[in-house]
Amino acid sequence: MIVLVMNAGSSSLKYQLYNMKNEAVLAQGRVERIGMDSSIVTHEPTDKPEVRQVSEILDHNTAVRKVIDLLTHAEHGVLKAMTEIKAVGHRVVHGGESFKQSTVVTPEVKLEIRKLFDLAPLHNPPAMMGILAVEANLPGVPQAVVFDTAFHQSMPQESFLYPIPMVLYRRHKIRRYGFHGTSHDYVSHKAAEVIGQPLKSLKLVTCHIGNGASCTAILEGKSFDTSMGLTPLEGLMMGTRSGDMDPAIVPFTMNKEDLTLSEVSSMLNKHSGLQAISGLSSDMREITDAMKEGDKNAKLAFDMYTYRLRKYIGAYAAAMNGIDAIVFTAGVGENSSVVRKAVVDGITFLGAELDDARNDVRSKEARFISTDASRVKVLVVPTNEELLIARDTYNLVKTK
Ligand code: AMP
Repeated sequence: MIVLVMNAGSSSLKYQLYNMKNEAVLAQGRVERIGMDSSIVTHEPTDKPEVRQVSEILDHNTAVRKVIDLLTHAEHGVLKAMTEIKAVGHRVVHGGESFKQSTVVTPEVKLEIRKLFDLAPLHNPPAMMGILAVEANLPGVPQAVVFDTAFHQSMPQESFLYPIPMVLYRRHKIRRYGFHGTSHDYVSHKAAEVIGQPLKSLKLVTCHIGNGASCTAILEGKSFDTSMGLTPLEGLMMGTRSGDMDPAIVPFTMNKEDLTLSEVSSMLNKHSGLQAISGLSSDMREITDAMKEGDKNAKLAFDMYTYRLRKYIGAYAAAMNGIDAIVFTAGVGENSSVVRKAVVDGITFLGAELDDARNDVRSKEARFISTDASRVKVLVVPTNEELLIARDTYNLVKTK
């Protein structure tokens, strides 16, 4: 079965086409700058040269049509006809409390996703535009939605509630939701496979550290706690996001700096984290390069970033009353041996011991980076959210 995976942002649309028989990627690509004067389309068929086009793509509907044209194009395409696409899976950031797992798109599901626009105003509306665009361009093809929050719906109340008036939870559903769920879910399964033990028997801390970053405590195969909250601002220090801080900083800063709420919100989301402390970049590559050159601010940003990661791993080990493995994934987690070393070398008391040679190996394979004697296993597991979306979609529609 051929499954198309879509990830629609406000001005972008990313896609991957899978043959589920062997889970092979047939093509992938993205449409960027949708609705702007010159949109850029990058199409990468697996066995053919990459295509890059600049054209005017005014909306998601046109973007989806463009993607289908490229997938079925005589020269650049990988399909003979669009009827070969048997299902489409969408990434949707927020599933609120309504969606505890992936589901097939129905009119009721669309209504429910609309109700959640409030909780993810930047992310859920474009996902809905993607769903509607597929409906228009591939009529009758079943669609599924896979939510970033769904994996964390297993959290117990003591993890997901904030100690603020309960009326706010009842009225507005203010609570911890957590994000990157597809990634934490995927890497936890893969880690259990590599360790060679049932996931249900393991206590894991998965660290998805990329541009956005979150840690999850996984107990008996389920999310028990996670560092992102109502929004993806809480938790670890990130590229441009502050992560945890005293909430009183918000009114205090508004008062002292004469800023509006939206200005402070923008400061915390877009001008904080590594970027703010280093004064240099939100990209860990630039931070570590500058650190090697002796840049003190870059070193401070790195130290704060890794310190906060250690604190979360320690907290989650305590929350689960034990820990069997730590898993690193996403841009920083998969690529930065220095970040992994700074984290693991500081928590040896837990029973984690890094093997420096293994840690320095560059590989796209899931692997151990701890010593054979290490009681707590440490792994690098490349994440693959698109594959999990394709699998969920396939499993949901194959019986239909
Ligand atoms: P992601 O959001 O998972 O795509 O991660 C993107 C981030 O990963 C970038 O902003 C970089 O900070 C980080 N990254 C990617 N490659 C490396 C690398 N070789 N070393 C350190 N950080 C990296």
